[in-house]
Amino acid sequence: MVAVSARAAARLRDGHVWVYRSDVTDPGTASAGSLVTVKDHRGKPLGAALYSSSSQIALRMVANRPLASRAEWLTLLRQRVAAAVAYRKELVKDSDAYRVLFSEADLLPGVIADRYNDVLTLQALTQAMDADDLRSAVVDELVTQTGVANVVERVEPRIRELEALPAKDSGLLRGTKTETAFTLNGLKFAYQALGGQKTGAFLDQRENYAAAARHARGRALDVFCYEGGFALHLARVCESVTGVDSSLPALEAAERNQKLNEPAVREIEWLEANAFDLLKDYSTAGEQFDTIVLDPPAFARSKRTLETAIRGYKELNLRALKMLKSGGVLVTCSCSHHVSEADFLAMLAAAAADAHRNLRLIEKRGAAQDHPMLLSVPETAYLKCVVGTAL
Ligand code: SAH
Repeated sequence: MVAVSARAAARLRDGHVWVYRSDVTDPGTASAGSLVTVKDHRGKPLGAALYSSSSQIALRMVANRPLASRAEWLTLLRQRVAAAVAYRKELVKDSDAYRVLFSEADLLPGVIADRYNDVLTLQALTQAMDADDLRSAVVDELVTQTGVANVVERVEPRIRELEALPAKDSGLLRGTKTETAFTLNGLKFAYQALGGQKTGAFLDQRENYAAAARHARGRALDVFCYEGGFALHLARVCESVTGVDSSLPALEAAERNQKLNEPAVREIEWLEANAFDLLKDYSTAGEQFDTIVLDPPAFARSKRTLETAIRGYKELNLRALKMLKSGGVLVTCSCSHHVSEADFLAMLAAAAADAHRNLRLIEKRGAAQDHPMLLSVPETAYLKCVVGTAL
């Protein structure tokens, strides 16, 4: 039994699933990664959780009632994996790459799995999920339910450090394949789960790629293009597309992806540049575009850096808005959880005012439906994607 503060108990009763270390009033005999019963300050049971002896998130709830045994948790775990796979089968179309398990949002805290055609990747992000019996149960059920035989475990060294887990390498857990090609909205992309230069995709943007393509036209610019997710989609409908990124390996992968899709996807111009410098040079030179996509990395990694992050987003959006022709389309994203949708829209309004443009919103979007959010766990919502027309 682990006892938590009245504040934590109230949060759990409101449907949240985390308890911070500072709210644990008595850890009892809980050991690293164990399944425990959580009780409030009066000793009333609140449910079952997985305990971490090192993370700031000490408890992650898995049930709102105590579980009788580890075997009962293993059964529940398998049922949840099966339900998560069934949910994706219903809603993912024209694509064989998607997130299969999304941690808290699938009631499976600490585990993420993605499917790339015939290769599954797994991340075990907590002490509890790193235990052999839990990992094996997840993998067995994933393989059974998806029919995919190859499973690669991808390890984040920083997360293992936070969870005080011994270092280990990424590697194949099942099958033989670690490389493949997958399809998103009918476009092909190469995937490498291991090896020096990992490649992949931002699967959370899958539906936003399609949305961008619905509105895009003319001369298009994809800023922070990575391996070409937006650029390839734009190239099916636009006259010309330029993709910009500061990473040369990402651009090389982008070019290979473009070639995989010829002739449906025509030549794309790939530029290695710092986006801030390039946008400045382009706007000084009076360049104009019909469509601009902005998909920067998360600028705000914590609440403290929020202000700097907003300034960064504003500068990018301001420059892009200035370069859009009248009626031009802006697709602008933020994947920082700390920047709320309200913050993001306020930043965009300020950027539009400074650019002396009106921005008419066409769509306000989030992550694709295979990355669901739990209403009671705001941390599960992070991606914003706004599509608008500059007037
Ligand atoms: N739009 C992409 C994902 C972008 S991820 C997709 O849908 O697949 C963010 C990208 O920004 C990374 O590829 C990273 O290399 C790039 N990046 C980070 N800082 C940059 C900068 N200052 N200028 C240009 N690119 C940058």
